[in-house]
Amino acid sequence: MTDPLVERMRPFGTTIFSEMSALAVRTGSINLGQGFPDTDGPPEMLAAAAEALRSGANQYTPLPGIPALRAAIVAHEQRFWGLTVDPDTEVVVTAGATEAIAAAILGLCEAGDEVVCFEPYYDSYAASITLAGAVRRPVTLRPGPDGRYLFDEAELRAAFGPRTRLVLLNSPHNPTGKVFTRDELTLIASLCTQHDVYAVTDEVYEHLAFTDAEPHVPISTLPGMRERTLRISSAGKTFSCTGWKIGWATGPAALVSAAQRVKQFLTFVNGSPLQPAVAVALGLPDEYYADFRSGLQSRRDRLTAGLVEAGFRVLPSEGTYFVTADITPVGGTDGVDFCRELPERCGVVAVPTQVFYDHKDEGRHLIRFAFCKREEVIDEAAKRLAGL
Ligand code: PMP
Ligand code: GLN
Repeated sequence: MTDPLVERMRPFGTTIFSEMSALAVRTGSINLGQGFPDTDGPPEMLAAAAEALRSGANQYTPLPGIPALRAAIVAHEQRFWGLTVDPDTEVVVTAGATEAIAAAILGLCEAGDEVVCFEPYYDSYAASITLAGAVRRPVTLRPGPDGRYLFDEAELRAAFGPRTRLVLLNSPHNPTGKVFTRDELTLIASLCTQHDVYAVTDEVYEHLAFTDAEPHVPISTLPGMRERTLRISSAGKTFSCTGWKIGWATGPAALVSAAQRVKQFLTFVNGSPLQPAVAVALGLPDEYYADFRSGLQSRRDRLTAGLVEAGFRVLPSEGTYFVTADITPVGGTDGVDFCRELPERCGVVAVPTQVFYDHKDEGRHLIRFAFCKREEVIDEAAKRLAGL
C-alpha cells in the first residue's frame, strides 16, 4: 500500500526525541537525549493541581485560558521583563509552546511566505512551517574560535527578502545553548523593522541564561519590536513539568488573535486543572527562579566537566538544558551513527545535532546532551562516557 501520509509531511519521520528515548528504554541506558527533568517541579504547584482536579476544574476553560493564569502570565511579563500586557486581549494559553508555535505560523503565514530561522532549529519549526505551506530560510549558527555560536551578518541579511513574513527566534537556544546577545538581537530587530516583518519568539528557556554579563533579553523589549512580536513561553521547562503542556503566547492583540483563531480548531482549550497550578507557580518568589537557574547551572558545569574528561570537545553552553559536544576527538565522524551506537558502547543516550539542520554537514560531528538530571545521574553518565 502506498503511504497515506500527505506528501509534505513525508520527510518528517518519528522525532529524534521519541527515537532516542525509546532506545534508552530498550537498552536501559541513562537518557541524556530528550530534554526533561528527572525531578518534579515546585510542591506548591503540584498541590494546586491536585486540589483543582478534586474541586471540579475539569471542564473547558475560556478559549484564551482561565483568568487567574492570564493574570499570572501578565504579572510575570511585568516582573521579569518590564513588559505590559493586557490580560484580556494580549494573552492566549496553549497546549505547550509547541502549539503556540504551530498556531502562530499557521495563523500568520500564507503558502509561499518565508520564515527566517536559525539552524540548528528545534524540530517542530520545520514541521509547522511545512504544514503552513511556508518556506524556511535558515541562517546557520557556527561555533566561533571560543566555541560560542555565532551567525554571519551577511547571511542573515541575505535571508530577508520580499516574501519574508516573520523571524522565528529561539533564545536561549535549543540545541546549542546560545543566548543571543543584545547586539545580535538589535541587528535582528533592525531587519524586522526594515522589512516590516513579525518576530515569533520561542523563549521557553527564558529563566535559564547562565551568564550574568549576557542575560536573556526578550527581543520585544527592544525599540519597535513590542508591536511586531509574538512572545511564546511555557511552564514545562521553568517548572519541571514538561508533560503538562501548558504554554502561552503574549503580544499585540492582532498577533495573539491570529494564533488563537487557529488554536481554537487545533485543541480549543487544554489542561483545565493544570492552569490554576501554573498560575501559582508563576507567582513563586524570586528565590524559586534564582535557585532553579543556579541548580541547572551547576549541573551544566558538572556534565561539561565530565564530557571534557571523557575526551569530547565541549562547546560552551550559555543557557537551556543542553550542552553540545564535538565527537571528533573521541573518534566519531557522524553524530547519528555515534548516538545510535552509544547505548551499546556505554549505556548513555544523546541526540545527534545534525537532525536540526537543513545543511546537515554543519552539524554532522556534533551531539547534544541534556543536563536537567539529578547530580548522581550526571556523574554516572560521565563515568560511563569516560570508558569510551
Ligand atoms: N521550543 C523549544 C526550544 C523547546 O526546547 C521545546 C521543548 N520543550 C519546546 C519549544 C516545546 O515546549 P512545550 O513542551 O511547552 O510544547
Ligand atoms: N524539547 C525537548 C528537547 O529538546 C523535547 C520535546 C519533545 O520531545 N518534543 O529535547
